[in-house]
Amino acid sequence: MRVLGIESSCDETGVAVYDSDRGLRAHALYSQVELHAEYGGVVPELASRDHVRKLLPLIRQTLAESGMSLDEIDGVAYTAGPGLVGALLVGAGVARALAWALEVPAVGVHHMEGHLLAPLMRIEGGTTMQAPPAPPFVALLVSGGHTQLVHVEAIGRYRLLGETLDDAAGEAFDKTAKLMGLPYPGGPQLARLAGAGRSGTFRFARPMTDRPGLDFSFSGLKTQVLLAWQRSDGSDATRADVARGFEEAVVETLVIKCLRAVEAAGVDTVVVAGGVGANLRLRAALDEAMARRGGRACFPPPALCTDNGAMIAFAGALRLGAGEHADAAVRVQPRWDMTELPEIAA
Ligand code: ATP
Ligand code: MG
Ligand code: FE
Repeated sequence: MRVLGIESSCDETGVAVYDSDRGLRAHALYSQVELHAEYGGVVPELASRDHVRKLLPLIRQTLAESGMSLDEIDGVAYTAGPGLVGALLVGAGVARALAWALEVPAVGVHHMEGHLLAPLMRIEGGTTMQAPPAPPFVALLVSGGHTQLVHVEAIGRYRLLGETLDDAAGEAFDKTAKLMGLPYPGGPQLARLAGAGRSGTFRFARPMTDRPGLDFSFSGLKTQVLLAWQRSDGSDATRADVARGFEEAVVETLVIKCLRAVEAAGVDTVVVAGGVGANLRLRAALDEAMARRGGRACFPPPALCTDNGAMIAFAGALRLGAGEHADAAVRVQPRWDMTELPEIAA
């Protein structure tokens, strides 16, 4: 089954074609980062309008790259939530209209399920170094809006083990970067800066690791970092050292909780997804920690950690392939709990 996937939940327009026999055929992404930069954050109305402007050209581009025409598409998948309502409606409207015109089924995908399943997708022509993970496993979802540990009992059957009580991990990266004067959006830049810093020069708390439980809290950490930065000499070298200390605190906290979660769930695999999954130090630390206990950590390629259309096309292919689809109404769910999703029939 060949599925066209559309992502438009926030400030990235993503389109992809996933073929359940051959894997990912093509994907294209347009980021609105520059549009929102002067405001220091995403402006919802501007985001919707930019999705309107970019979606059709991106669909044409993706199809061209996949070497396929519209009449070879067997289904359409789009992000139905969670996200910005106006932005979601653009993707849902285009997807539904396209499916109607092509007389193929369409399915609304949960954005976080898209992230979660991304490490399971096959990349055409890509080298598969390891077999893709299969449930049961623990998923660590670390993105701009979510930090969750989920027990994936089956595909579509998700049990929440723990989540952040305040800021998400990606949000902590972005806010901390801003406090240290890095330009928007600062998360990836802070990570790059940390690479130049010295380990252990600044040591920050590993929040909520001193007590049992699988929840997170990252908002206090950014205040600690701010104070350390304000009291420092403010040099470029110190900025890198502080960034390194912050990154080490977040990474170690995530690793500690992942180990606890696999223990609690009785599994030996952790699957990481979401933008912070692109963080190299997190990837290395979790790989090592899981290998030490005889298990493994799985990550999508870094480019498929942040928002993209490929993960939506893939999740949609699984759901459409299992016979799921809805009527032609354009519905979105800006707030949507992933644990309410139906299990996908094998
Ligand atoms: P959600 O999926 O929860 O709705 P989102 O879609 O905005 O949120 P993603 O696109 O998955 O989130 O990820 C973006 C986040 O990932 C940002 O907060 C960004 O700072 C963070 N991020 C991206 N690359 C890195 C990196 N290398 N290190 C740390 N954080 C990173
Ligand atoms: Mg984004
Ligand atoms: Fe996302």
